[in-house]
Amino acid sequence: MDHIRNVVIIGSGCAGHTAALYTARANLKPLILEGHEPGGQLSLTTLVENFPGFPEGIQGPELIENMRKQAGRFGAQYQLGHVDRVDLSERPFVLHVGRETIHTRTLIIASGASARWLGLPSEQALIGHGVSSCATCDGFFFSGKEIAVVGGGDSAMEEALFLTRFATKVTLIHRREEFRASKIMLDRARHNEKIQFLTSTVVEDVYDPAKAEVTGLKLRNTSTKKVWDFPASAMFLGIGHIPNARMFEGQLDTDADGYLVTKNNVLTRVPGVYACGDVQDRRYRQAITAAGTGCMAALEAERFLEE
Ligand code: NAP
Repeated sequence: MDHIRNVVIIGSGCAGHTAALYTARANLKPLILEGHEPGGQLSLTTLVENFPGFPEGIQGPELIENMRKQAGRFGAQYQLGHVDRVDLSERPFVLHVGRETIHTRTLIIASGASARWLGLPSEQALIGHGVSSCATCDGFFFSGKEIAVVGGGDSAMEEALFLTRFATKVTLIHRREEFRASKIMLDRARHNEKIQFLTSTVVEDVYDPAKAEVTGLKLRNTSTKKVWDFPASAMFLGIGHIPNARMFEGQLDTDADGYLVTKNNVLTRVPGVYACGDVQDRRYRQAITAAGTGCMAALEAERFLEE
């Protein structure tokens, strides 16, 4: 067996970089595998105003780049590449990354969760320019504007309610008549006079990629088939997240939606394997909470190696 690593970290979002910083400062020379979406969800946002320490806010990609530099200064090694397969039944653990095989004594999983998108080309072109999957990150930019929220679950209700702080009107667009949201969340949204509902309605297009801003949506009623243009300055998606935990199926515990199940925030059922950030957190999903669990995972890995 070639070189055995002390720590390998899967994912390079807030959680991964924080775990990298702590394990690098503990002289464990962590290897960070950056994955398909280097930088994670922060790299998709614009101004971050709720990460403490930046009184004027900081651009998401800049914050992530700073974290990377900070960990790099203490010897964290970054490698582009996606983990295809892991074997946690052997020790050291085995990771397959393309043609390479990596062995490690501890593994920190910070592979995040990806927002679910509608998949329209115009939607993808306008991410960060009026299309967002994070109301707490981007809602503030649409003060005094009319906003659309897509989805019929608790996330969509929560986003719609949060956005009423800024918007003059929030329109919740849902593809069915029935809602997946809990009664309490649905009632709250229904009783908010700033929120109007459009049910049995789907988004067919987002205007206007040529202007690099959202000016409206093309909507279709699924029962009447009527198609119309709807004015909006932003579209927020609340149609769920997909935790990036598929590769651990059968080896670690996941809940019904695929999130890794942890004890004490970061402990998985395999000693020496830790999970942090959005791959195990369906509740808070904030940059600062991801950083917090990244730190916990690093401290646990350190302790495990000492023992
Ligand atoms: P969810 O419950 O799976 O709801 C997703 C919603 O998006 C559904 O209404 C679904 O429509 C819709 N949707 C999915 N794909 C779509 C598409 N391609 N086009 C249009 N609509 C689409 O997801 P979630 O709301 O993120 O909630 C996830 C979990 O977290 C739930 O257990 C929820 O209770 C929990 N959560 C709780 C709170 C809270 O209590 N404060 C807040 C947020 C989340 P259909 O209904 O037609 O499938």
